Formats: sequence, C-alpha cells, structure tokens
Amino acid sequence: MTAALGIKGHCAHCDITFELKPWQLNAIAIEEPFDCPYCQRILQLNCPVQLRHFKALDRWALVRPSMVALTCMVLIVALVAEWLGLISVIGQFNISLMVVLLHCLVLRYARHRQRMTLDLHVVSPALPIEQLARIAGARLSQR
Ligand SMILES: [Zn+2]
Repeated sequence: MTAALGIKGHCAHCDITFELKPWQLNAIAIEEPFDCPYCQRILQLNCPVQLRHFKALDRWALVRPSMVALTCMVLIVALVAEWLGLISVIGQFNISLMVVLLHCLVLRYARHRQRMTLDLHVVSPALPIEQLARIAGARLSQR
C-alpha cells in the first residue's frame, strides 16, 4: 500500500499524532493491534467508519493512473478531431482546458481523501496461549 503513505494515527492514551509507518498501516489493514511508538500501549483502530474509509484508500490509489490515461485519451481525441476538421481550434482548446482542469480537481479530491488521521484506541492485551497454558499448569500443580 505505497499510495497510502501520509496517513496519521492519533494515540488515545498519550494524545500524540504520528505518521503511520507501512508496517503499522499493514497491521491496521489486517485489524491487528500494534504498539504505540511513544507510550508502548497496544493500539487498534476500533471505529468501523474509519476502518471502512481506510480500506477504501486502495481504490483511491487507482484514481491517479486512470485519470492520467483518461486525460491523455481526451487530449489526443480532441487533437485528432480538430485535425480532421470536426471541431474548431477554439473547440479543441476548450476541451483540452476542461479536461486538464477536471484532472487537477479529481487528483486534488483524491489527495484530500487520502489524507486522514486515524483515532487509535488502547486495547487490553489478550494473553498469549503460552501464558494461559502456564497459568493453567500452575493452577493444576497447586492441587
Ligand atoms: Zn501512545
């Protein structure tokens, strides 16, 4: 998920907002808790709305290449149409200007959607299996 860089996380415990690293983004994507780099508490994204928003980022990453392809295609078609005499030079100029403007607006919107801060909540750590087994073993030996 290279296009999703620039996403920030906000730790609910130490109230620090920090840039999320790729492995932390991966952890969020697979809904796996990870340590806060500042207070070492275990954090997880609990908000279902933010999680859905986060998972939709992959689709936003596709916007840029498809917009580049679309813009190039429209520019070429307009140029050929003008060349063939189907539209005037002014018409061709207007179409080109419109598509470039649209291109910029869409990319700006996509960038805006990709910039987000995730509210990370502290989760109580689940005991690992080994630890549970040791507790069970200790209890059994007490009898
Ligand atoms: Zn923290």
